[in-house]
Amino acid sequence: MSKKQKRYLLGEDEIPTQWYNIQADMVNKPLPPLHPATREALKPEDLYPIFARELCHQELDQEHAWIDIPEEVYDMYKYYRSTPLVRAYGLEEALGTPAHIYFKNESVSPVGSHKLNSALPQAYYCKEEGVTNVTTETGAGQWGCALSYAAKAFGLEAAVYQVKISYNQKPYRRSIMQTYGAQVTPSPSMSTRAGKDILTRDPNNQGSLGTAISEAIELARTTPNCKYTLGSVLSHVTLHQTIIGLEAEKQMEKAGEYPDIVIGCFGGGSNFGGIAFPFMRHNIKEGRTTRFIAAEPASCPKLTRGQFRYDFGDVAGYTPLLPMYTLGHNFMPANIHAGGLRYHGAGVIVSQLLKDGLMEAVDIKQLESFEAGMLFARTEGIVPAPESCHAIAAAINEAKKCKETGEEKVILFNLSGHGLIDMAAYDQYLSGSLQNFEVTDDDVQANLDAIE
Ligand SMILES: *Cc1c(COP(=O)(O)O)cnc(C)c1O
Repeated sequence: MSKKQKRYLLGEDEIPTQWYNIQADMVNKPLPPLHPATREALKPEDLYPIFARELCHQELDQEHAWIDIPEEVYDMYKYYRSTPLVRAYGLEEALGTPAHIYFKNESVSPVGSHKLNSALPQAYYCKEEGVTNVTTETGAGQWGCALSYAAKAFGLEAAVYQVKISYNQKPYRRSIMQTYGAQVTPSPSMSTRAGKDILTRDPNNQGSLGTAISEAIELARTTPNCKYTLGSVLSHVTLHQTIIGLEAEKQMEKAGEYPDIVIGCFGGGSNFGGIAFPFMRHNIKEGRTTRFIAAEPASCPKLTRGQFRYDFGDVAGYTPLLPMYTLGHNFMPANIHAGGLRYHGAGVIVSQLLKDGLMEAVDIKQLESFEAGMLFARTEGIVPAPESCHAIAAAINEAKKCKETGEEKVILFNLSGHGLIDMAAYDQYLSGSLQNFEVTDDDVQANLDAIE
């Protein structure tokens, strides 16, 4: 590890007080989500039965570029923000690259990932309108932990459906959720109609984010005073995550640099959009030429091999139809350890931006992601989340290109979380039993063809 690691932090009065809504500045706005029954353009009111009202308006807001962060949320942000921006000298030295590599360390939040940035406002807006219960789905458990913490912070009850494979493989995140007082159920379960339908068709179904979303939405719809919350994909979630990029912008200024390349790992797009959009606004408005790269797993390649079209966000077809890059809502990703990246679709904003060439996407194989994570841990001292390893791998690839060309590019990536609760995955890597998963073109096409 290098002794030169340098951290940039913001003072309390420098933490941004507004989120950035890129929809307002986009030349081609995202197409409207469609009501699943009528197939007409969704209005905020259509979402009221599911989400807190303020969030429904944020979701479809294509007008206001800046949204005030409520004071109560800001106070909770200050428990862990600003998060450090770090110059990764150790990684640079190990790679022998002339590139300057920076990472934004979102792993310092109390739950170990960026997810709290949106869990806090979502719980707050629910509380504000008199909601008493919140429900959600979680994959690897990061979002469930964040929501459980936020529910406790604002005095709400939380019920979490956790993807069954993760519930069994990652028991510690379940324990964290329960420690914060949440009720956790493995999905698919027999407690909802959606869950029963899935288990009747396939009794050994190990669950996916799609199945768990169906169950949580059903619970919210059938329980009084209960709202659903989502940890990724939706535009209001990404809006809240822009606190990452807005802080990073100020911190890069303190470092006297501006990024040539911004990288985030990609599940539904919230941490990628969170770090990228504040910088992308300068591309849109001032003609800057920063590159933005989303790093997705090769086993769940919606951005690099999916299709741009309307599709459901869940298996049961409860969600609105979203105009997005998708592998089909029945796509069952392989059981890679980066549980947070096992989702069939991409957010509508990112999908439009990718279609319009304002950003790029790369896919990373599981073994390559862990190799990158190992190097990062050994040079920068932080064991990264399996999801974040994808961003690190993409950053390393760009830094290696700089070595070939001799270019001194500035690379910024988001470290979305730490991997201290994912050590079973590292164990497998260290023992040599971790493997790559291939997706065939036929798999992709079969699921796309199945969309009505
Ligand atoms: C959930 C999660 C992700 C993926 O979700 P996005 O919405 O794409 O950011 C990435 N990293 C970590 C640590 C996560 O918990």
